[in-house]
Amino acid sequence: MDFIPGTKPEANLAEPGLWFVFDNGRLLIKTRRGEQGLIIPAGRELEESGITLTRKQFIGSLGKRPCYAAAIEGDKTPPGGFALKPLLTLLTQLDEGLIWAAGRANQLIHWEQAHNYCGACGSRIEDKADEQAKICPQCGLVNYPRVTPAVIAAVMKNDQILLARNNQARVPYYSVLAGFVEPNETLEECVRREVKEEVGIVVENIRYFGSQPWPFPNSLMIGFTAEYAAGEIQIDSEELSDAGWFDKDSLPRIPPPLSIAGQLIEWFVKNRSGV
Ligand SMILES: [Zn+2]
Repeated sequence: MDFIPGTKPEANLAEPGLWFVFDNGRLLIKTRRGEQGLIIPAGRELEESGITLTRKQFIGSLGKRPCYAAAIEGDKTPPGGFALKPLLTLLTQLDEGLIWAAGRANQLIHWEQAHNYCGACGSRIEDKADEQAKICPQCGLVNYPRVTPAVIAAVMKNDQILLARNNQARVPYYSVLAGFVEPNETLEECVRREVKEEVGIVVENIRYFGSQPWPFPNSLMIGFTAEYAAGEIQIDSEELSDAGWFDKDSLPRIPPPLSIAGQLIEWFVKNRSGV
């Protein structure tokens, strides 16, 4: 079932609401014995549990079920029958509709918790009545939910793909290159700059591939394919521990296909091998 994002509940949402409750990137789930899979709690179950919620808000719907986001107030220890799990570890376990709802919830709650005061005058800010934003009652500064764009690019040279291993990665994946967009930069310039900075390669024929929200906490990954134009691999050792050209039969450990990085590599394997 598809998740439909929204900011105000419509009257046809007659079924009990689903609550996506977060604490510091961890999602509250029910863990009752005998019930299979991960269960997102309903409002009544939360009331009975004694968990105190704050920053409650409507985020959209799944079929006729309204979906809400909230943060836990006070004691963060989940009561019996509940657990807090890092959202990133649940990606392969939740249904797709629930993933989209949980990602939106995490992104909004993280933004809310990081924006309590006006950045210009320091006054306490309030919800803006007519749109999803915060407004300062003193100076009128408006603050919208933060989305941070980042490019991710599959660079190809004949029948090989450029993959690199990040210094900081917790898992030993090789992946395509990625980096955050800088102020007043086009996405194509960002692809060129990031690839040059990280591996010393010049690219051309930059083409849009697709995009994916990455709500950890607020990235939007914008994917591209690009062709090698010039240069030899010289890694930026601050960022990377290794990089190289790989053909489809000798790929190292790569990210799963649920991420756009995995989808870019999958696209290479299907479309570019044997060029
Ligand atoms: Zn202000």
